[in-house]
Amino acid sequence: MAIIRMRDHLYDEIVNYAKEHLPEEACGLLAGVETGEGREIRKVYFLENKDHAEDHFTLDPRDQINAIRDMRANGLKPLGNWHSHPSSPSRPSVEDIRLAFDSKASYLILSLMADYPVLNSFHIEGGEWTKEDLRIYSEEYYF
Ligand SMILES: [Zn+2]
Repeated sequence: MAIIRMRDHLYDEIVNYAKEHLPEEACGLLAGVETGEGREIRKVYFLENKDHAEDHFTLDPRDQINAIRDMRANGLKPLGNWHSHPSSPSRPSVEDIRLAFDSKASYLILSLMADYPVLNSFHIEGGEWTKEDLRIYSEEYYF
């Protein structure tokens, strides 16, 4: 299984941003590089949730264009997207599965339903999802 790596400060940015946007779902894009073992997320983009809803999201198209442009300028590849689940678990909803058109993308879902945030990465293809090996690492802790 491919390993998806992400530095701890990027994780903190996602959690903080998502908490600031409660009770709405927060969302964005992920960019990085392919590595020998999988992929590494190097940059997180925070996009407006056009729906401003508590149980679904739509990425703002203009924000998406700007993010893709920024990725190209920085030599990064689009790796997928992330969104928060304010009051449900960290796994794809029926709608998340229905709207997951890119089988190459990693779909990160952050649950804020409990005191402690839970973040998982998913591969979604043909109506099925599988969990990816997401590893949040720091300078002191690399595995
Ligand atoms: Zn969702």
